[in-house]
Amino acid sequence: MTNRQDSVRGMDAQQDAMATPRGLREVLLSPGDCSGCGACTELAPDIVGWREGDERPFLVSDVAPDGVLTELMAFCPEGCFEDGDAS
Ligand code: SF4
Repeated sequence: MTNRQDSVRGMDAQQDAMATPRGLREVLLSPGDCSGCGACTELAPDIVGWREGDERPFLVSDVAPDGVLTELMAFCPEGCFEDGDAS
């Protein structure tokens, strides 16, 4: 095996190690248009939090079960959530 093949395999192994765990999706939150409705924190308090006095939510976890992320994306009226693994 050449050094180049070793290098490519090493990169593949590194990417596998960095991949989102099975059954979970990377959650991206862009609260730029957030209206502050609070639906996300009620729907998934383990994933989205809200500090007292803040105007916008923050991510408690940057990964969520697939179905939870789907619900966050569906219920946020401003489209603030995205699937980081969809591309
Ligand atoms: S559901 Fe969307 S608009 Fe409502 S608080 Fe959460 S991020 Fe903001």
